[in-house]
Amino acid sequence: MVGAYYKGNKIIEMGPAEKVQPGENEVQIKIAYCGICGTDLHIYHGNMDARVTVPHIMGHECSGTVSEIGGQVKDIKVGDKVVVRPLGPCGKCPACLAGHNHICYKLKFLGIETHGAMQSYWTVPAETVHKIPDDMSLQYGALIEPLAVVCHDVRLSGLVKGEKAVVIGGGPIGILAALVAKSVGADVLISEINEFRLEFAEKLGISTVNPMKQDVEAFVNEWTGGAGADVVFEVSASNAGAAVMTKLARSRGRIVLIGIYSNSPQVDLKQFFLRELKLFGARVYEKEDYEKAIELAAAGELPLESLITKVAPLEELKEVLEGMTGDQKAMKILIEC
Ligand SMILES: [Zn+2]
Ligand SMILES: [Zn+2]
Repeated sequence: MVGAYYKGNKIIEMGPAEKVQPGENEVQIKIAYCGICGTDLHIYHGNMDARVTVPHIMGHECSGTVSEIGGQVKDIKVGDKVVVRPLGPCGKCPACLAGHNHICYKLKFLGIETHGAMQSYWTVPAETVHKIPDDMSLQYGALIEPLAVVCHDVRLSGLVKGEKAVVIGGGPIGILAALVAKSVGADVLISEINEFRLEFAEKLGISTVNPMKQDVEAFVNEWTGGAGADVVFEVSASNAGAAVMTKLARSRGRIVLIGIYSNSPQVDLKQFFLRELKLFGARVYEKEDYEKAIELAAAGELPLESLITKVAPLEELKEVLEGMTGDQKAMKILIEC
């Protein structure tokens, strides 16, 4: 029973981790894999010290096997392969009462405000646990969380077969968004400046454009016969992405904001008037997005395997986080817990 503890100041140390006895409505999971998310990198770099209590165990993109259940838990049994939807809503605020508990006004994120999955055993509310099929690999399981993010984004966008979508940003979320958009039957284009990511997308059969080399607005115009894209997914959280997103959408086109901006970028609001554009915010996922993600992964039609560019043991978490800093060649790295 070990865990990797973030102790502030880029210090990560292995230490004993408590095997927490599940409460009546809780489930204890023997963690198999945990993917590293941009959020974990932010924690490591101290950018989220206001939200985490050190020593802190990070990690929320996990898969594992149920090792113990509380007395009131139904539909989940010991030995089930599971993943966790790492949200802790308050249940009482206006958002929760309106049925939007994934954007609870007091939302706790498991693995940020609480200890996360980078340990041998993790105990979580049964409500957050989703079963995955017995024959699904636990490495795939660790991709369900980011896959659910993009299922949410694509669902909110209303994208349908035959439409054209531009994804701004070709990291793991951008690539997954493009794959899910394609699975809907849309034509998809990724705009990205990093050569490794461009090549990665092309290998998966996704069309790309590099704004450093080509005028994206002109490119999208030509690609859509002068109309503009039906849907634009802004994943890059860059000023350039925010500046161009309104220029790529067609009349009454939909823009989905996925990237998390820490600044207030310039946005061309006049385009909203000229083209009657719609802008959607999209944050994490709802239960049905997890169900959809599990269904998509189980169908085996998405090239999820290729997204996993490295698997490393928990003991190497610090080295992996250090190596990811500024590394433009990583897609998804999984930690074996
Ligand atoms: Zn994540
Ligand atoms: Zn709430």
